[in-house]
Amino acid sequence: MGLNGKIVQTITYSLINDAENSDYYYHDVAYLTDNIFLKAEKELFPVIFKYMSYLGGKSLEILRTKEEYLFDLLNAGTIWRIYYKEASNLTYPEYFILANLYKLRRKNKKLKPAIDWFRGKMGTYSLRKVNMDRKLEFLSIKTLTKVIRWMEATGEFREDVKRLKLFKLFLKSIPKEKAKDYLERIIQFSGRFEFEAGTILKQYTANVDRYLDESYKEHLGKEDVIFCGRKEAEYHLSMVGAELMNRAFKAKFKSSKQKAVLLPACMKLLPDEKCKAKKISLDYVCTGCSPNCKINKYTSTGREMGFEVHIIPHSSDFTKWLNSFAVGRDIGVVGVACPLNLITGGLELKSLNIPAQCVLTDYCGCKTHWDKEGFPTDINFDELERIISGNTKTIAKSVI
Ligand code: SF4
Repeated sequence: MGLNGKIVQTITYSLINDAENSDYYYHDVAYLTDNIFLKAEKELFPVIFKYMSYLGGKSLEILRTKEEYLFDLLNAGTIWRIYYKEASNLTYPEYFILANLYKLRRKNKKLKPAIDWFRGKMGTYSLRKVNMDRKLEFLSIKTLTKVIRWMEATGEFREDVKRLKLFKLFLKSIPKEKAKDYLERIIQFSGRFEFEAGTILKQYTANVDRYLDESYKEHLGKEDVIFCGRKEAEYHLSMVGAELMNRAFKAKFKSSKQKAVLLPACMKLLPDEKCKAKKISLDYVCTGCSPNCKINKYTSTGREMGFEVHIIPHSSDFTKWLNSFAVGRDIGVVGVACPLNLITGGLELKSLNIPAQCVLTDYCGCKTHWDKEGFPTDINFDELERIISGNTKTIAKSVI
């Protein structure tokens, strides 16, 4: 039971748990991020600085912040540790078919249902197979190439893959032994991250394993077979990733002239066929048909506080929306999503040079992936307000 007696069903994660709201979560994740950052200074930043100087020297990208590179490496280490066996068993033809079908699916809406059907069947087999008898190479650039291919084939890591490919170029530019040493550091650090994040954030993701054991099987054969099967450590990575990105982009967001909040359709009180949101081109704007709808509430607050609210029907519409409404404008965007969608969205905003901040939905409940009927999700409004006004968070608890 959550605030105002509302029933909050925990499918995989809940930032509220038994509390009144998700304030404790925001304190905990900020505290954890501080700790991880401190530890990374000694263990990972020497690698990060070498990497940054390589990127700068070769003009491969406009240098990003330390926080962003730290996330890139944590992300690489975590995905590597969880999926390197699956990645090593994915054949080149399987990768080629799945990755290209994913690209086609994004370009052609008409073909999407057929492609999704096929990718669901093929992905369930090809992306999840593990051959226990095969001896696998663990720490090598060859394995990194396989991990990148696997990520591309899933379609879940669009933006992450671009960054990882740059890191691979860096590793290839240095002596083999050095590259191996760097990979080892990243993987060991991500192992310690998994343990520490688990200690602090487990209370918010306690249902993930149960969900994977009991309900996940319903997604076998479907396009979201990898999305819904993401492991608890990946939720923790996204939570810390969101915090790292908010810190990295805060100043630019604060100085942007206009602010917009993008709310996911899973926050609507009414189902799609009853919701009276107005579709203007790619944009959906709430018309206020239900007084108890959270999107209605945040839209009214936005008018008072001076930010726009837009509804993003599905994460796959995100890129098109950004290109039509945000690129080229002096606008700071707050993306709201569940942990599994948030990072790709945040990285995409960054690559389009849009100053972004993010807020997690307090729990998931959409009909597309998590619940047959679907139920409205919500966010911590104080957190949104704090982000919009650029106030600094206070860290309350010490757990490690
Ligand atoms: S209040 Fe707005 S978002 Fe909510 S159901 Fe009505 S039109 Fe849709």
